Amino acid sequence: MTVRTRFAPSPTGYLHVGGARTALFSYLFARRHGGQFVLRIEDTDLERSTAESVNAIMEGMTWLGLDYDEGPFFQTERFERYQTIIDELLDKGLAYRCDCPKERLERLRDKQMAAKVKPRYDGHCRGRQIDPEQPHVVRFKNPVDGAVIVEDLIRGRVPFANAELDDLIIRRSDGSPTYNLTVVVDDAEMEISHVIRGDDHLTNTPRQINILKALGHEPPKYAHVPMILGPDGKRLSKRHGAVSVVAYRDAGYLPEALLNYLIRLGWSHGDQEVFSLDEMISLFDIADVNTAASAFNVDKLDWLNQHYIQHADPLRIARLLSPHMGEIGIDPSEGPDLVAVVEAQAARAKTLTELARISAFCYQDFDDYEETAAKKHLRPVARPALERLRAELDMLALEDWEPETLHRVIERVSEALELNMGKVAQPLRVAIVGRAASPGIDITLQLVGKAATLRRIDRALAFIDARAANG
Ligand code: GLU
Repeated sequence: MTVRTRFAPSPTGYLHVGGARTALFSYLFARRHGGQFVLRIEDTDLERSTAESVNAIMEGMTWLGLDYDEGPFFQTERFERYQTIIDELLDKGLAYRCDCPKERLERLRDKQMAAKVKPRYDGHCRGRQIDPEQPHVVRFKNPVDGAVIVEDLIRGRVPFANAELDDLIIRRSDGSPTYNLTVVVDDAEMEISHVIRGDDHLTNTPRQINILKALGHEPPKYAHVPMILGPDGKRLSKRHGAVSVVAYRDAGYLPEALLNYLIRLGWSHGDQEVFSLDEMISLFDIADVNTAASAFNVDKLDWLNQHYIQHADPLRIARLLSPHMGEIGIDPSEGPDLVAVVEAQAARAKTLTELARISAFCYQDFDDYEETAAKKHLRPVARPALERLRAELDMLALEDWEPETLHRVIERVSEALELNMGKVAQPLRVAIVGRAASPGIDITLQLVGKAATLRRIDRALAFIDARAANG
C-alpha cells in the first residue's frame, strides 16, 4: 500500500502549534514510508475562511520546511464534485431530503434533553417524499443498528454504536456540502491511506466511516492525536501567549527547534531530546504517540532553540539574525561582521531576538549600565586600571586590534598594577558592554573596535568620577 497522508486545515486563522504538530506527524509518517503528503485547504466555511489565512498557513508550513507533494487543493474548487456525490447518494436511497422546520427540531431537542437522552435527529423525513424545489437539507441515512469500530492507531479500538449517531446533514439548505461529506469525498478521492488529525475529530470518524462505506470505499486508517495543553492544564490557546507558528519565527525561534519541540510533544524515543529531521523521519512512528495530552513548556523550547542556535552554521544564523538586529534599529553592515558576532555570542542566547539584544553593543553605544554590574565594577578602585588600559589601547595600531594583542595588553596592565586579570577585565567589560557578561574580553574589544572602546572607557571614567563626587 502506498502511504498517503494529508494535512487539512480550515483557513480561519493562522497555523497554530497544534496544527503544525499534526502536520509534522502526517509529514513524517509519509516520509518514513516513502509515501506522499498532501495539503488540502478546507475552505467550505465561506464566512470564516480567508485568503490571508491560507497565506499564513502556507507561510508557516514553508518556514517549518514541511513540504507537501500535492496540493494545495481547495475544497471550494470541488463543490461540483461534492454535489455529484450527494446526488448519487440521493439516487441510491442512501441519503434523503429533509424539510423539518427549525421549530420541530427544537421541540425534539427539548424533549430529548428533558428525557435525558442525547439529542439526535429522529429520522422523521426518512420515508417522506420532499419536493426538491422546496427548501430542504439532505441527510445521510446512517445505519440504525450495529456499531462502528474505529481501530485508531494511537488510541486503539474505539467502538461507537450506530444508535448514537443520527442522520447528519450533508447538504445545507443553501446547497453547500458539510464538513463530514467533503472530508470523506476528498480522503477517498485523494487516496489518503492514513488520516492523522486532532482528537477533537474522533467523534466525526464513525460518521465518516459510514459515509465512506455507503460510497463503496474502504476507510483509511485513522490516528487521532491528543491535544496540547497550556501550563494551566487547559487546551492551549491564545490565552497562553503565542500559539501561531509564525509568531515563533518572529520571536527568534529556529524552525528546526520548533519542529524538534513539537515532535517531542507526545512522542519520545528513549531519553533522546535532540532530533535532526532525518532522525525524525527514520524514528517516528505514529503508533508510538502518547494517548495522553501533553503540556506546552516554553522552557524546553528555549533550551532546544539555544542548542540549535549554538550548533547551526554561523553564516545562516547571521542571515536570520539580521532582521532582528534591524528591528532594534541596528544596521549590521555598519559594524563588525555579523558572522563573527554570532560566533562569539551564539552560546549565550535562547532566541535570535535575545541574540540581537545582547549583541547590540557591538554596533552602538548602550544607554545605561546594568545597575549591579556598574555598582560592583565601576568604582574608584577600578580607575587606575581603566586609565592605564585606555593609554595602552590608544597606542595600538588598528592592524594590531586583534584578540591576541588585546589580550597581551590586558595582561600587561594587570601585571603592572599587580592586579589579577579579573580586576582589570571586569571593569573593562562593564565599560565596553554595559554589563558583566560578554564573550572573552579580547574578542569583545575586537568586535567593538578601537574608537568605540576608547570612547566607552572615557564614559566609564566619567561615570566613576561622577559617582565619587556624589559620594
Ligand atoms: N479541517 C479540519 C480542521 O481544521 C480538519 C479535518 C480533518 O483533518 O479531517 O479542524
